[in-house]
Amino acid sequence: MQTSELEMNGTKYILRVLVHRRRNSTVNIRDNVITIRLSSFASKKEREDHLSEFLDWAKKKIMAEPERFRPPKMREYRNNDVIEICNEKYALRIDYAKRKSASAKAIGNIIRIILPEDASGHEKKRMTSNLLAKVISKKRLPVLHNRIKLLNNMFFQKEIKEIRFRNMSSRWGSCTKDGKISISSRLLLAPDSILDYVCVHELAHLVHFNHSKEFWELVGRVIPDYKERDMWLSENGEKCVF
Ligand SMILES: [Zn+2]
Repeated sequence: MQTSELEMNGTKYILRVLVHRRRNSTVNIRDNVITIRLSSFASKKEREDHLSEFLDWAKKKIMAEPERFRPPKMREYRNNDVIEICNEKYALRIDYAKRKSASAKAIGNIIRIILPEDASGHEKKRMTSNLLAKVISKKRLPVLHNRIKLLNNMFFQKEIKEIRFRNMSSRWGSCTKDGKISISSRLLLAPDSILDYVCVHELAHLVHFNHSKEFWELVGRVIPDYKERDMWLSENGEKCVF
């Protein structure tokens, strides 16, 4: 994989180019990261053409909607920081090693993160934030399971296939028609009442797969003050970042 930086209108974007063993080449943009995957079956010339074509597409897309593709806001973590999440305190140990990828392990309430020493400052921040979200989501998953199952038994009685935390930055929750519920790990940094609201919102989608009047009536029957909680998210959600 090749990583480089490009600047547009004073904002830095990260361009990642990799070759994958697929027939087609793809491009996607998430936050300020443009990822281009080129087919290993394509000729060198074809790959070069795809690369420049995709890069043009990405640039146009970013120019058209700069708000959508901003660098994610991230916290700054230092070795020995203590972070408090859901009333639990975690001590952070950050080490560096000569390697390509980062890893994290939680031992009790100590979270040990190992970062590649050669990564850029921005990359180190991004890796730390992703790993923290992952490690703490894993610890809190049983609690989320119990909460959603309880709410489902009490109010919805729908079949649930899967419950998971996902490191999503653009949405608080999502669900599929067949009962797979994803909750943004960023909600671990919000009060329980807000997490409950998002769980109920997704469960209500298993009854109404839309945002119709009936859908909101159902949400309102379970959480009468849902509007305030929704408002809390639009006003304070930005601060919920790992
Ligand atoms: Zn919804």
